[in-house]
Amino acid sequence: MKLQEYQSKRIFAQYGVPVPEGGIATTPQEAREIARRLGKPVVVKAQVLVGGRGKAGGIKLAETPEEAEAVAAQILAMNIKGLPVRSVLVEEASDIASEIYLSVVIDRAAKRPVMMASSEGGVEIEEVARRTPEKIIKLAIDPFLGLQDYQVREAAYGIGLGSDLVRGFLKVAKGLHTAFTKSDASLAEINPLVVTAGRTLLAVDAKMLLDDNALFRHPELAEMRSLEEEMPAERKARGYGMSYVQLDGTIGCMVNGAGLAMATMDLTKLYGGAPANFLDIGGGAKADKVAAALRLILLDENVKAVLFNIFGGITRCDEVARGILTALEEVETDVPMVARLVGTNEEEGRAILAEAKMITAATLEEAAQKAVAAASTCGERT
Ligand code: GDP
Ligand code: MN
Repeated sequence: MKLQEYQSKRIFAQYGVPVPEGGIATTPQEAREIARRLGKPVVVKAQVLVGGRGKAGGIKLAETPEEAEAVAAQILAMNIKGLPVRSVLVEEASDIASEIYLSVVIDRAAKRPVMMASSEGGVEIEEVARRTPEKIIKLAIDPFLGLQDYQVREAAYGIGLGSDLVRGFLKVAKGLHTAFTKSDASLAEINPLVVTAGRTLLAVDAKMLLDDNALFRHPELAEMRSLEEEMPAERKARGYGMSYVQLDGTIGCMVNGAGLAMATMDLTKLYGGAPANFLDIGGGAKADKVAAALRLILLDENVKAVLFNIFGGITRCDEVARGILTALEEVETDVPMVARLVGTNEEEGRAILAEAKMITAATLEEAAQKAVAAASTCGERT
């Protein structure tokens, strides 16, 4: 689960990370009121769950409350990367001398949290990693010992921080790490952590990703979920107990089992296509669930073909086939469908699909190739 910048900042602040003073507004009038209360120049920032808001025009400075109202009106009318801006964060503008990057993230290869720091803040860290990887300091954190002071000092000197800032940096780094641990996060990021003109540190941006599997331990964090901000398909899938991740290809994949789903996506790529999603409908999926899954896949307008890859173990192939037909009755679509069903009741499943206008395949290779071919000939969807 992703948190909005203002939510992440609230959490960071609870653990002693300095953040600018401000408030959240959903109308231009509220933005003006917050600016008036702050009594200083402000920055008005779009709250959307995507990065690069600055470049997209979603962050603007305002000298006066009237100006804050005007820029808030502009930003609240924006769509950033397809997401409508529903609220803005209005906070005191920072006088920035330089920008640092600081985060704590789970490193699966190291099997522990890693703190990353860089003198190249304010830009995407992936960009820094590609161009100047030597400018990123990585420190593996022992889960039992926690983040050690000497490690933080090492990071501070590694990124060339002045010695007057080390004490403050220690507080920020420790606070960030504690926020990460206590919230069961998979990422806690400050980009940029700013060195102000007055030589203090300030978290100007904040981002947190929480581990969904640990949310039951944090009802107060679970409540922060901004339902309307998430991809509608991902939210619906969760409601059905399926896991769905939208990608940017054209081949919708419906598969039972996460490993099989990964293999299906790999083969789709191997034959020159690109998956539009990861979707694991789970075991024992009944007709209604399959229908719901198909509707989800077709919500994505980029989908030019759907590839069903079902291994009938607990889920019987005839059940799945009936699910597909039920869904096709409800969903008007001319998107070509390719199915590979194997396992329990596969003959019955195939017979059912043969009645519908579906392309069937005996092997996964064949199915992937047929799906790629179908997607490339499918025209614009109506
Ligand atoms: P992002 O584009 O979504 O990552 O949003 P950020 O909050 O990181 O802001 C992007 C950039 O805008 C920062 O790196 C800063 O350079 C600039 N910025 C953000 N807040 C302020 C501010 O209060 N004052 C000034 N001068 N620049 C700011
Ligand atoms: Mn940022």
